[in-house]
Amino acid sequence: MGKTHPFQAFLDRLYLKYQSLGEGKLASYIPELAKVNPDWFSICAVTVDGRVFEVGNADQLFTLQSISKVFVYGMALEEHGREKVLAKVGVEPTGDPFNSIIRLDEYSKRPDNPMVNAGAIATTSLIKGTDPADRLNRMLAMFRRYIGHDVYIDMSVFISERSTGHRNRAMAHLMRHFDMIDEKIDEALDLYFQQCSLMVNCRDLAVMAATLANKGVNPITGDRAVSAHCIRDILSVMYTCGMYNYAGQWAYQVGIPAKSGVSGGIIAIVPNQIGIAVFSPLLDAHGNSVRGIKVCEALSQHFELHMFDLPMGCSHFLQTLENEA
Ligand code: GLU
Repeated sequence: MGKTHPFQAFLDRLYLKYQSLGEGKLASYIPELAKVNPDWFSICAVTVDGRVFEVGNADQLFTLQSISKVFVYGMALEEHGREKVLAKVGVEPTGDPFNSIIRLDEYSKRPDNPMVNAGAIATTSLIKGTDPADRLNRMLAMFRRYIGHDVYIDMSVFISERSTGHRNRAMAHLMRHFDMIDEKIDEALDLYFQQCSLMVNCRDLAVMAATLANKGVNPITGDRAVSAHCIRDILSVMYTCGMYNYAGQWAYQVGIPAKSGVSGGIIAIVPNQIGIAVFSPLLDAHGNSVRGIKVCEALSQHFELHMFDLPMGCSHFLQTLENEA
């Protein structure tokens, strides 16, 4: 057996340190999320040159939930271009909870950004296709490119999301009233509930994160998932709006683009270096994974990953990895 890579050893130590942290609550708005095992915990990281590091339940499936918003936003940018997308969804952080219904921009009537539910539904409504199945298949094909293998929807989560999603439905109708989405409201909502119900594991998330870190090319398969010119827009919105109404503190303390979801996943991207994913379903009051936040804080601090760590910011990470090997 070869020597454990120091980065792997670091992840192993973080895992052990935070495994016993039992703080937080499971999401409870649908039964499927309320009944998961609160002890599930995994940390995975994939470098842009395709090295995989993982610890914990890296194979445990869970639903993508809000993390899907990042990738569907990328798809909308790719299909329509920045200007058209900007006309429908802004890029302004809100400081409000993700499901806030009251905020459509006073003048433009756009939702504030694509990481809150209203903005995500508007983004999803832009996905092209001849009919609902075609739109779903095109969306699944996009996720497949990021993940590198076939993807499936958890039907019971989808049905629960759909049957309880009255708030999302209300937002969609309000946006229809202001002409921010077209008349296919139920189609857009179904597609949104489907993207939230996509099944992934923590390793998949890390590969998706690494694909964003690698300018849109999946570092394991070599397939392009999104055009390189979309990456800057995607990462900017993640940086300012990705962590619910904790986004400002996250930018301040951790300082790398990230997105979390209510099922307990977090992805964090160190551009041109590495994609990081943590999965642990116990959430804090903002809806972010408690262990996930701790792990990302520790990684950022130890490896000086904050975008504004001087003099080199995060651009030295791979070098550190080599030096330590
Ligand atoms: N399906 C959830 C909703 O739209 C997504 C929540 C989340 O992960 O933030 O309410």
